[in-house]
Amino acid sequence: MKNQAISTRLNRDHLKQLKDHEIADFAVNLAADLLRESKTHETRRERANAAKVGGLICDPMGKAMTLSLADQVFRATSPKRCASQFRYLIDEYGVPDYLKGYEKLAMRLGAAASSLFPDLVMPLVTQKMRVESSDVILPAADDKLEKHLKKRASKDIRVNINLLGEAILGETEATKRLNANIELLRDPNVSYISVKVSNIFSQLNLLAFDKTISKIQERLRLLYREAMLHPYTDEHGKQVPKFVNLDMEEYRDLQLTTAAFQRTLDEEEFLNLEAGIVLQGYLPDSWKAQKELTEWSKARVKRGGAGIKVRLVKGANLAMETVEADIQGWELATYHCKSDVDANFKRMVEFGTKAENAAYVRIGIASHNLFDIAFALIHRARNGVEDRVEFEMLEGMADHQAKTVQNASGGMLLYAPIVHRKDFHTAIAYLVRRLDENTADENFLRDLFSLEVGSTTWNEQRDRFLKATREKDSVHDTPYRDQDRSKEENRKAFCRPGQPFVNEPDTDWTIPANREWINHLRKERLAAPPEEIPVVVNGQEQYYDQRGVGHDPSRPGVIAYRFALAKMTDVNESLDIAHEALAHWSQTSITERKNVLNSCADLIAKRRGDLLAVMTLDGGKSITETDPELSEAIDFATYYARSFDVLENQTDITPEPLGCIVIAPPWNFPFAISCGGVLAAIMAGNTVILKPAPQAVLCGWYLAQLLWEAGVPKDVLQFIPAPDNEIGRRLITSERTNAVILTGAFDTAKLFQSWKPTIKIFAETSGKNSLIVSASADLDLAVKDTVKGAFGNAGQKCSASSLLIVEASVYDSEIFMQQLKDAAESLTVGSAWDPSATITPVIEEPSGSLAQALTSLGQEEEWLLEPRIINNNPCLWSPGIRIGVTPGSWFHRTECFGPVLGVIRADDFEHAMKIQNESSLGLTGGLHSLDQREITIWRDKVEVGNAYINRSITGAIVNRQPFGGWKKSV
Ligand code: NAD
Repeated sequence: MKNQAISTRLNRDHLKQLKDHEIADFAVNLAADLLRESKTHETRRERANAAKVGGLICDPMGKAMTLSLADQVFRATSPKRCASQFRYLIDEYGVPDYLKGYEKLAMRLGAAASSLFPDLVMPLVTQKMRVESSDVILPAADDKLEKHLKKRASKDIRVNINLLGEAILGETEATKRLNANIELLRDPNVSYISVKVSNIFSQLNLLAFDKTISKIQERLRLLYREAMLHPYTDEHGKQVPKFVNLDMEEYRDLQLTTAAFQRTLDEEEFLNLEAGIVLQGYLPDSWKAQKELTEWSKARVKRGGAGIKVRLVKGANLAMETVEADIQGWELATYHCKSDVDANFKRMVEFGTKAENAAYVRIGIASHNLFDIAFALIHRARNGVEDRVEFEMLEGMADHQAKTVQNASGGMLLYAPIVHRKDFHTAIAYLVRRLDENTADENFLRDLFSLEVGSTTWNEQRDRFLKATREKDSVHDTPYRDQDRSKEENRKAFCRPGQPFVNEPDTDWTIPANREWINHLRKERLAAPPEEIPVVVNGQEQYYDQRGVGHDPSRPGVIAYRFALAKMTDVNESLDIAHEALAHWSQTSITERKNVLNSCADLIAKRRGDLLAVMTLDGGKSITETDPELSEAIDFATYYARSFDVLENQTDITPEPLGCIVIAPPWNFPFAISCGGVLAAIMAGNTVILKPAPQAVLCGWYLAQLLWEAGVPKDVLQFIPAPDNEIGRRLITSERTNAVILTGAFDTAKLFQSWKPTIKIFAETSGKNSLIVSASADLDLAVKDTVKGAFGNAGQKCSASSLLIVEASVYDSEIFMQQLKDAAESLTVGSAWDPSATITPVIEEPSGSLAQALTSLGQEEEWLLEPRIINNNPCLWSPGIRIGVTPGSWFHRTECFGPVLGVIRADDFEHAMKIQNESSLGLTGGLHSLDQREITIWRDKVEVGNAYINRSITGAIVNRQPFGGWKKSV
């Protein structure tokens, strides 16, 4: 029934007379009426719920306990393990204060009983959790869902269904989710669904923008077809297609989602289909997207097509956006303060409710903020677009309020996540988000449960609203993420001289200009003729007939470049020069060396794109994995430039250089590792001979040229592509080589030492690294990380997690194994020149241990996923997963430098740590567990750490752990 006061306020003629500046105050009064009315609909249950949320807000420990409970207690499959976690959390946090007396008692009794009867108690705890959350997450079971939807329909409320489930890490899971959504569209009770593009395609890749869009489109078509095939009867008795709404979460997906949406709806087949998309007010980019979508929709309608709907929300992924920005050193994509978000939201509401826009784009106002709702109600009434603007709320959040808004607006759409009973654990993320949202500072929902017109919280919310309304036309309206590499001809390193050290940000591939920039540079490099690379002694370039050949791992048989092979005379001469140069270089001031290193950093920053293309050619490396390597090279330069700052006030320490240092880098990170070695050495006053890895001479050559150009004297850095024979040996073992910085295989380090027992060597060597997955892990996350750790860089990383040690209950779970297989199998394998490829070729045709690991199994082992050669390229292998790997077996102990993962079953957590500790090459190690007790024990007992030598001040270097093996990180 309509509320008279509200109806009067929403009288169009009356509203039309309002001046623009009067709208905000008017909205405040309307919001007060809405609140008053909603109080009259409040049931006892809602009041009790409000009291609980109120209690939760004032009980930080209770909130922490509730979040931890939701997050941790239901992960393990064994009730005993869950019970132990349950008791641990109660011991840690205590029983939450905000609970009622009988609930506290039940919790304590439950905890006590759980140690004796975990099989009885823990299902009850899960059931309680299910019941507690059943208002906000609906059961997906057909009968229950039907009952609920019918109940809602009887009250003229429509429901927008969002099917929750496992994380989408692979294509099997994506297809399953797609099919489940198709089934929903076939269900006569369902008329509206929401999906995210990341739920229907697992390999979103911004660098392969068009390919990714076509994959999304293939799936969207299926959904849209189904929506048209199964119309429903709307409130006017008309048969209309069901509604498919594209949800939005990560900033990364904004362009992909809007482009896939527009391209699909532009197809003739769908011209008459009205579909929807979400825009998040907390992104300044959304304002531009709204204007573009509106213009596009106008054109589509003029072509005879249907309009679209835009659902306006404030934004749901702030925590993750903040983490990403922080890790990457990028600007935060969202507005930096809540009042800007509110202001942008109002700007978008105002734009969307204008008659000339609403005619083409229906608007869904998805908010619980009564001020915003009032604001939208006023605008839609003033503009006469009531039938084009609807109101949307969250299922189970505040039914009394929904009822009030439904009465005032004539309709209501509730957003309802649904989950199958067996997948309940997958709803945890949604639950935690709701809990967080309900209690977050400044959030309207936090206050809603206790809000009274005229109270202090009311006044605060009102003032926030008025401020945002005043600022709506002036709030920042361009993306914060605006890095444009194509305009960086004068780019300098991010970390400036004189400032504290900060990491260099990677390239932001969400920016179209950056994608175009790199595609263009890579095309140029692909078309370029093979280069000839000389030996360079004291600046003199020597091109010999005796040449080595550089291959492009992506194009077997193609000669990428040729390089002169250094001769013994070059080795001897370069050592002479290096020693002569020591006299002047060791006397340069710290400031002078620092300036040179900072210039090197600037030049790498400036040349990032060219260097990236060189590494694609020379190393077969993918764009996304090469770009961070260049950031790392810049970091080495800026970090080592600061490495003497600590000595500034230490008069009792006089650093002395070692002399001439030979740098023997690997081919797998051919630029950054070589760069780090060279710059650390020259910063300390040494002279350097760079001997690139024979498989990556081009990268070494580009590095050497760049460093000379940046100011490193040509007698201080010489370039000697010596082969790994007696010439290389001579360079390593000469009495005049004062030290060697090696990054390479453990056996290489041993070989060097066997040649010259007195060798001074700074070595970082092989790794056989493992990741433990405990029974208390978040398995979605564990699979995601495993796949990245094992197959990133095609597994050619000293830190690759090539072993997965899995606790028995997880190992025996078919779901886990299936998810792991699906995630690995779905990775796109291809040439490094194909931007859609995530697994690119290995450096050369596998031989030795890698060939063995890719083609044969040990006793008791079997393939979960058998690796295959792709595109007839012997360097290009799809990922392999061996299961049944036994502790102590060949695969457990051998570094196999490529895309192969071995999985070991551990009896329990203790056993898993024991196996992890048994590696003789444990450079890095990981643990996936949500159990704080396990994390503490693991930190204490597991010995992982890089065989990393402090290269920063060579005069003072202690050779801490020369050849790999166990050592805590230093
Ligand atoms: P590698 O040991 O074959 O070569 C490393 C360097 O030593 C190259 O410059 C090579 O030319 C030189 N070298 C090897 N044998 C030589 C010889 N007989 N005479 C003269 N020089 C010789 O290693 P790689 O295949 O280039 O790189 C992969 C290895 O590097 C893996 O074992 C990996 O784990 C290791 N790595 C370790 C780290 C780390 O931080 N610990 C980082 C990257 C790579």
